Amino acid sequence: MPEGHLVHRYAREQDAALAGQVLAVSSPQGRFDPRPYDGRTLRSVEAYGKHLLYHVDGAPTLHVHLGMRGLFLRHDDSAVPPRPGVRVRLAGDRAAYDLIAPVRCEPLAPERVRALRDSLGPDPLRGDADPDEAVRRLSAARGAVGAALLDQAVWAGIGNAWRAELLFLAGLDPDRRGVPPRTAGELWALAVRHLALGRDAGQVVSDPAAPDERWVYKRNTCRRCGAAVRVWELGARTAYACPVDQPPG
Ligand SMILES: [Zn+2]
Repeated sequence: MPEGHLVHRYAREQDAALAGQVLAVSSPQGRFDPRPYDGRTLRSVEAYGKHLLYHVDGAPTLHVHLGMRGLFLRHDDSAVPPRPGVRVRLAGDRAAYDLIAPVRCEPLAPERVRALRDSLGPDPLRGDADPDEAVRRLSAARGAVGAALLDQAVWAGIGNAWRAELLFLAGLDPDRRGVPPRTAGELWALAVRHLALGRDAGQVVSDPAAPDERWVYKRNTCRRCGAAVRVWELGARTAYACPVDQPPG
């Protein structure tokens, strides 16, 4: 399931490959109307949290949310025939991207783009994110910090794997309530640093010295101290934490 780091990676890669070009847009699956976009110039591809926004000259913004199962296939030869299940193919001069199984793929009028932006909290991977606002939203959140981190209106782009690993790095119990501003600021700094590493590596990176390893996420034992990882439901997703490195209270 793609979290913010992968969505930003997709945006960066597709912007580099397609922006400034006239797109050939099609929907092999037939569940998307490509006509407003086909034959128009892609201005830029933007990521905001887990959302992708394609800005196309003379057309509504194209909004894509990958959800749990969505993905892109890249073809270096845009003449390669798409699979029948492809929702949208975006083909430029040199490359084509096939979007498969998104939960959202829709044109958005400007007021709906604005509403989408307004619904999202600061995104640690965006240059325009306001760290003070990020601190304010997290420390004002009611309920457990582990639930607040998954709320895209608090911070945008954090999913379950990042929640587990960032709270481990901060030494915070996911059940903790009432995170003080200083702690929220430390967590934000961890998110900014590690999500950027994750975007560049194409995977969650919580230990730059061992980028394929996790501290607690989907582990039986803590990679630092060996304690049995605590596993429970929090914010409708499975939480993972070390009872030693993330002591309660
Ligand atoms: Zn531990």
